[in-house]
Amino acid sequence: MGLGGDIQGALSDEILATAVGDAWRLAEAELLESVVRVSEEIQRLEALRVKLVGAVDYRCKVDVLGFPNAKMWLASKTLLEVGAAGRIVLLGRGLRQQPEIADEYFDTSISAEHAALIMKFCERPPKGMPLEAMDDCRNALLFAATGPTANTDAVRAVIARLERAFESDDPPPSEDTELNEFHASKTLNGRVAVKGDLDAVTGEMLLSALSGLSKPRPAQDGTKDSRTPGQRRADGFTELLRRYLNSGIAGEEGGERPHVSLHVSVRDLADHTDCRARAEHDAAASPDDSLFAVDGVAWTEWMGPLSIKAARLLSCDSIYTPIVLDENGAPLDLGISTRTVTKRQRKALVARDRGCAFPGCGAPPSWCEGHHIVHWSAGGPSDMGNLVLLCGFHHRLLHHSDWEIEMGADRHPTFIPPRQVDWERKPLPAHNRARPRAS
Ligand SMILES: [Zn+2]
Ligand SMILES: [Zn+2]
Repeated sequence: MGLGGDIQGALSDEILATAVGDAWRLAEAELLESVVRVSEEIQRLEALRVKLVGAVDYRCKVDVLGFPNAKMWLASKTLLEVGAAGRIVLLGRGLRQQPEIADEYFDTSISAEHAALIMKFCERPPKGMPLEAMDDCRNALLFAATGPTANTDAVRAVIARLERAFESDDPPPSEDTELNEFHASKTLNGRVAVKGDLDAVTGEMLLSALSGLSKPRPAQDGTKDSRTPGQRRADGFTELLRRYLNSGIAGEEGGERPHVSLHVSVRDLADHTDCRARAEHDAAASPDDSLFAVDGVAWTEWMGPLSIKAARLLSCDSIYTPIVLDENGAPLDLGISTRTVTKRQRKALVARDRGCAFPGCGAPPSWCEGHHIVHWSAGGPSDMGNLVLLCGFHHRLLHHSDWEIEMGADRHPTFIPPRQVDWERKPLPAHNRARPRAS
């Protein structure tokens, strides 16, 4: 099948051939026209693929496919991910039942997304809608979805109006909480993939909660926030969870407040020496045991192994419950007072630091965690002389870089930059102690 075989256009196949080889030789009008024509061609081929995959799904048995279903077969034979392959199979299957919608889609009058939306409406019409109204409703939807200027909001607006017109006691699909799903699954590389489908109200709550927490935060000198929108939302979600676990309103689970538990050996937590040197030393001492030793890795209850660096960071603030083990793997009772920041101490910290103390940050106190300058497992006390308020970002920075904090003679923290930032390592005052720069 040649590209553009039967499409009538001002564009000759010659021009299209030039576009494939040397796009730079096209005049601008030809360039624009080529893009439109290629897009129409893609749309036509995509519709054809849906039709053929629909037939595969209907006809081909497991022994012919060599896979459990058409979706897995399609994903294995093409560059499509399983999710995208699944959407093609579902569309093909649905359109077999809905010839009126299928005609418009295979004619490339409406997009795959709009076909799927209208199909869903027709499969689950509002409970109060009489069967005779189906044709008129479908036509109204197809009309809203036809042509290049049709947009999804317009189609959804018609759906919402029809749902209101045939209102019943049942909630419309957009508000039906029984359709809600939320998956958080561990991936092979020790991360968590999140996927969900939520009703409009829950969605509104999620987006409202995230919007305030994922705003761009320009630096003090006006430098733009370099995080992508996706990164900002992920940071906002982390903050949401941290505040929830921190708030004490998290309810009870097994007689305890939900919290993040962390299993780690006391030696690892306190030890700041080079891990490799220690591993070599351990291996020399008992070459067989060291391979199976749990040292050098921390454990969380849900996610499993975690690096010691991350364990030090997590156990620094009080929302996590570290379960510290001795050399034999037995829990040590370190006493809660050695490690947690009390409410009163936190108030005093906020009074002193006013927010993230890192020079130039100043994020509000509710974004901040208490950082132990000397980790409590190494004997650092949980008192004002050893605590600094830091936002999540700067808390991570302090644990994962060569920035250091010293308590000044005025009992305010000062920050010592790493050599690559300042060769002389001149201490910088905390954010709320910095003098305004002369301009
Ligand atoms: Zn810390
Ligand atoms: Zn900060």
